[in-house]
Amino acid sequence: CGIVGVTGREDSIEILVSGLEKLEYRGYDSAGIYVTNRKGQDHLVKTQGKIIDLKHKLTPAIPGTTGIGHTRWATNGVPSIANAHPQFSSDNRFYLVHNGVIENFEELKSTYLKNVTFVSQTDTEVVVQLVDHFVTQENLTTKQAFEKTLGLLEGSSYAFLLMDRDDPETLYVAKNKSPLLIGLGEDFNVVCSDALAMLNVTKDFLELQDGEMVIVTPSSVEISDQNGNPVQREAFHVDLDP
Ligand code: GLU
Repeated sequence: CGIVGVTGREDSIEILVSGLEKLEYRGYDSAGIYVTNRKGQDHLVKTQGKIIDLKHKLTPAIPGTTGIGHTRWATNGVPSIANAHPQFSSDNRFYLVHNGVIENFEELKSTYLKNVTFVSQTDTEVVVQLVDHFVTQENLTTKQAFEKTLGLLEGSSYAFLLMDRDDPETLYVAKNKSPLLIGLGEDFNVVCSDALAMLNVTKDFLELQDGEMVIVTPSSVEISDQNGNPVQREAFHVDLDP
């Protein structure tokens, strides 16, 4: 029920874990983190228990400069490690965290993904497998595949953070009817469902509107609307201590 992301920080694991701890008040049944580093290594860690258990699984700290984290409140599929997020594609290239519900996931699964073996019962896995499907089967870029996938999620609610192992410093972000903010830093940027999660690293945030997609790197934030047109947005400043 909460999402955090960071790109461009050597201490990304600490930022993600402390962010998830600050989102604990929203309630959750499981949690997970995926990080990559500049040496091409990546790590996926999940737990069905508390964030503190996730922390124990992460010691010694895993090095990473970019990562995503999630606390799950199960809607489709029981609470379990397999159903915890990040969900990933069969080729282990794409990793996705999601808050919300995909209304037409069964239909999308039978239309596009008949030959895919699923490892979870979640609606979310369908989305990450779809992105992979469009990249590998239709030769789309990750951004194009993500846009195409978003266009298929009729009436669904989502806050998404997607990572591509082949493009390890980029966060692909989208929001519809679930909260999501971009936090702005100096040579890094963060994403979170509540500013509280990131007040220890930044106080400047961009609010996203429903239907928007964002490409976030350590040095850039590019927002586009539903039709792919660029959007300019002023940051707001939060005057609160963490
Ligand atoms: N629908 C997704 C699931 O059940 C996401 C739930 C959430 O918002 O945490 O896995």
